[in-house]
Amino acid sequence: MNILLLGSGGREHALAWKMTQSHHCDALFIAPGNAGTSEFGTNLPISITDFDAIKNACIEHKIDMLVVGPEEPLVKGIYDFFEAHPLLQKILVVGPSAKAAQLEGSKAFSKKFMQRHNIPTAAYAEFTADNFEEGKKYISQHSLPVVLKADGLAAGKGVVIAASHEEAIKTFEEMILHKQFGDASSKVVIEEFLKGIEVSVFVLTNGADYQIIGHAKDYKRIGEGDTGLNTGGMGCVSPVPFMDELFMRKVEERIIAPTVKGLEKEELIYHGFIFFGLMNVNGNPLVIEYNCRMGDPETEVVMPRLQTDLVALFAAMDNGTLADANISYDERYCATVMAVSGGYPGDYEKNKIIHGLGPNNEKEVLVFHAGTKQDENKVLTNGGRVLAVSAYGKNITDAVTRSKNKLREISFEGMYFRKDIGYEFDEVTDS
Ligand code: ATP
Repeated sequence: MNILLLGSGGREHALAWKMTQSHHCDALFIAPGNAGTSEFGTNLPISITDFDAIKNACIEHKIDMLVVGPEEPLVKGIYDFFEAHPLLQKILVVGPSAKAAQLEGSKAFSKKFMQRHNIPTAAYAEFTADNFEEGKKYISQHSLPVVLKADGLAAGKGVVIAASHEEAIKTFEEMILHKQFGDASSKVVIEEFLKGIEVSVFVLTNGADYQIIGHAKDYKRIGEGDTGLNTGGMGCVSPVPFMDELFMRKVEERIIAPTVKGLEKEELIYHGFIFFGLMNVNGNPLVIEYNCRMGDPETEVVMPRLQTDLVALFAAMDNGTLADANISYDERYCATVMAVSGGYPGDYEKNKIIHGLGPNNEKEVLVFHAGTKQDENKVLTNGGRVLAVSAYGKNITDAVTRSKNKLREISFEGMYFRKDIGYEFDEVTDS
């Protein structure tokens, strides 16, 4: 099978690493990829939203399967584009239709979906310019803190947790009246604040059957002790000690099964990953968000632990045998620690030479490239998040220590990584 993978982050490097272990994968192409993905296939200089160029690449390279890493092409309708084109219809697209991708693309859509199917989530209301005054009144009577969310995609920046009514109303005005996020904030969801621990669960579904393929906890803040600005993710661990059988049973019964049933009932076409962003509130899971793709850096710990052939799972999703698939995991813990450019998540410089990468051939440590590019025989930084170093261990501390030791062999100007990923599990997982 010839596979085209869209994306250029650590997630895509981890997917490329995993998919090329399958005997079903004859050739892998990655558009546009990074310096790391070129180790597993051919990088194609194509933008992830240039559907015509993607179509031409599929025809030229006789692609059988398209795996979509990031959400943007999905929300923009790449699944539907392939369905509508006679030369592309035979290609298996791993990802939902544009309509189903609204579960991620529109917070109002996903909240309504959860409400229709009795899926536990924070109480909310939605407002636009038409009922702006009503929105202000709603906010002024809301308990604090209060969560405001731009309806559409805003690169993780469209959510504000306001500590006071003044701040909330100011944010609301920015979003609706001043169109802070353009069309994405023409509608705003106002939501109850959930106090708990955030975790995520990953599922593969064809809109009727599903399989859980892993779970993780990520660390979003730039600073140690979970302080400072939010980032795309500074590290991740899996499995999560408190996500035991009882908790996962609640997740499955209350959230995953009703979500997939809801997709089926509403005839939403979905062949791909669902990322359930959850809050564990006193042992009870509530949905914070749906994403219609894998997470980054979660993929960098979920894929190393998943022993089942991923390409075979994609095929099973397509031919109706997903429910019979046998999912197995590596027993070990896995952690990833992200090395970022100096200044990230604010302004940062690119094109710094990365030293000390060496051959990626250690059994217990995997260096996944996120923002990198090849420049002749050098690897340069090409983004805020640069490398995700994943490692296995007998417990979380052990795995994180291995990641950090590897990172200490690597350097680039301005490089920074958090030293405390998984800190709260130090005692729990020690054996
Ligand atoms: P992402 O960057 O993960 O794509 P997003 O822009 O899609 O984020 P959400 O995931 O809905 O938005 O919210 C971003 C973050 O804000 C969450 O990961 C969580 O930490 C926090 N958050 C969102 N909703 C709530 C809530 N109701 N209570 C507490 N925290 C929340």
